[in-house]
Amino acid sequence: MRFEGKRAVVTGGASGIGRATALRLAEEGAHVLVGDVDEAGGEALTAQSDGRIAFRRCDVTDAAELEALVAAADGIDLLFNNAGAGGAREPIGEVSPEEWDRTMALLLRSVALGTRYAAPIMAARGGGAIVNTASVAALASGFAPTAYSTAKAGVLHLTKLSAADLARHGVRVNAVLPGFITTNIFTRHLGLPEEKRDVANRMIAGVAAQAQPIRRAGTPEDIAAAVCFLLSDDASFVTGTSLLVDGGMTVGARHSW
Ligand code: NAD
Repeated sequence: MRFEGKRAVVTGGASGIGRATALRLAEEGAHVLVGDVDEAGGEALTAQSDGRIAFRRCDVTDAAELEALVAAADGIDLLFNNAGAGGAREPIGEVSPEEWDRTMALLLRSVALGTRYAAPIMAARGGGAIVNTASVAALASGFAPTAYSTAKAGVLHLTKLSAADLARHGVRVNAVLPGFITTNIFTRHLGLPEEKRDVANRMIAGVAAQAQPIRRAGTPEDIAAAVCFLLSDDASFVTGTSLLVDGGMTVGARHSW
């Protein structure tokens, strides 16, 4: 019960990593407000949460909606800036200015503004903790589209600078870098309809398992555990860091000789 009495906001909590983290936070005592554009997913989550998880529709690319989400938490101690999607698919020689801006607004500006709106409230309450979802794509090329990877690399730097700015207010800021995690993000990005997602997700998980020393796909719960460590007092001396949770993908798979 590391989060007893704490108030948490999770963006992108209607699905995948955000959903697993909202459930884990609630299980460990927090009151959680999930913000997401997926209203059906958000309502389904609140229905299974014993009243500890509330949902509010929020498009994180809309600054006013994000500010209203943070305000609606009625006090905030923990923030998980996590909402995301694949963003612009085109390589740099083809991407449009509009798609580039949309991707940055979704993956980078939302993290900056979420922190911007939450930090003063946390400071007034004596402190707090923020975790931002980056990606292994922030470190290496080839995993994801250019705009996505660039935005996620920005999240790493933003995490460090936010940590430095906010430490004197008792607010810690860290990032988590998931590897391949089985969620709907890939099949959504490819535009696959819902009925085809399970099969496609299993195929993607199989490929992912081959690319890393721990030969299984990551689960949303693997990431939730790491996020909850960073949000908890177990990490009270940890700020400005990035925690890789990638089954060793960035180390590389070893082949026996
Ligand atoms: P997911 O699709 O299961 O969940 C993402 C959630 O974000 C969805 O509920 C979606 O509705 C929500 N969302 C999308 N756009 C939004 C917006 N404008 N406003 C509010 N909510 C919005 O995918 P996931 O894998 O759980 O992704 C969560 C985060 O993890 C993302 O930031 C993603 O980039 C990151 N990530 C995922 C992986 C992976 O392998 N799944 C790897 C690295 C990083």
